[in-house]
Amino acid sequence: MGEYAGLGDVRGKRVLVRSDLNVPLDGPDDALVITDDGRIRASVPTIQALSDAGARVIVTAHLGRPKGAPEARFSLAPVARRLGELLGKPVAFAEDTVGESARAAVAALEDGDVVVLENVRFNPGETSKDDAERSAFADQLADLADAFVSDGFGVVHRKQASVYDVAQRLPHAMGSLVGTEIEVLRRLTADPERPYVVVLGGSKVSDKLGVIDNLLSKADKLLIGGGMVFTFLKAQGHEVGKSLLEEDQVETCRSYLQRAAESGVQILLPVDVVVDTEFPGGERAPAPQVVAADQIPADSLGLDIGPASAAEFSSALSDARTVFWNGPMGVFETPEFSAGTRAVAQALIDVTERGGLSVVGGGDSAAAVRALGFDETAFGHISTGGGASLEYLEGKELPGITVLETSDSTKD
Ligand code: ADP
Ligand code: MG
Repeated sequence: MGEYAGLGDVRGKRVLVRSDLNVPLDGPDDALVITDDGRIRASVPTIQALSDAGARVIVTAHLGRPKGAPEARFSLAPVARRLGELLGKPVAFAEDTVGESARAAVAALEDGDVVVLENVRFNPGETSKDDAERSAFADQLADLADAFVSDGFGVVHRKQASVYDVAQRLPHAMGSLVGTEIEVLRRLTADPERPYVVVLGGSKVSDKLGVIDNLLSKADKLLIGGGMVFTFLKAQGHEVGKSLLEEDQVETCRSYLQRAAESGVQILLPVDVVVDTEFPGGERAPAPQVVAADQIPADSLGLDIGPASAAEFSSALSDARTVFWNGPMGVFETPEFSAGTRAVAQALIDVTERGGLSVVGGGDSAAAVRALGFDETAFGHISTGGGASLEYLEGKELPGITVLETSDSTKD
């Protein structure tokens, strides 16, 4: 005991862990409730293992996008409480990140204790593009600890102080969550078992251009739903009413359709769409209507793929051996527009049951799976990092991983 892979004996050592605890919260600022604790649960194994090994565990993480200064609604205090419940032991909380409260809380740690530092993005140095400013902050973070464990997969594509710079300053290791995520992504890119089907949805096509571009030459089929589909429908010459449309990407979508046709990759777009005259969430109850994908009325907007499309997508997935899914098929947060997302989730579970690999990537997609009541363990893997997994699949380098591999892990 006392050992942690890559770090050796950690008993009595102060180990800084970068976790991804960026969970959705809801309610008034002084009584915020965590609506989905998936990322906290995913962070537990590494924190638990370090604590069991006798380390003094210092957890650093961000929540939301504060602008480099404290803001009550972005406090990690409720997250620290939830982490304590999940660990089944008290978790201390420091009211700042590298200040007096943090230093005192760290000094008070006994072997096996855990402290969560306040939102690391309350400090402008965390996300600064200025190397000197980021370095100065990373020095302060590194001063709190004897070693560093990188376990925040959702942020490994960011060159930020608590992800990148701190790893250059302390002996470091990869946490088990990041290790698992990378291993799965390697399986998706190295030599995926075929047929390899990719399902893409979510809100904006512009978020996912890179991944479409890259996967067009790797996947056998690409199924497209969600808000991004309307830019593709427009590219095919259809009117999309009031649906989400990125006019400036129509040309790009057209080129993807053409490239797919030339290279023999099948792109499947929905044949029918569930529409309404208003985006859900207002006073008015949703009034869903199914229309053909090329018949969207001018006063309506598409909010889910229709039932014929859901059946077609399921059947396209029925022989898949490898599936990567990112982005809900519709506005799943409203039950009337969740059927398409539900059908795709079920089809992925079926792939897993037949022995294939199914991977769900993306914060909202993972939340959708849980919100719709699916058993997370029925999927091959649910990634905790949307942006990070997309960038990996785009073939980009992840600075938070590269730094672990290239900088001296024993440096003190
Ligand atoms: P992920 O986080 O999984 O990568 P995104 O952030 O890209 O997914 O998109 C998720 C959001 O997309 C959800 O909040 C969902 O409501 C929205 N969405 C899905 N379909 C539509 C649509 N047809 N119109 C508008 N928004 C949509
Ligand atoms: Mg999202």
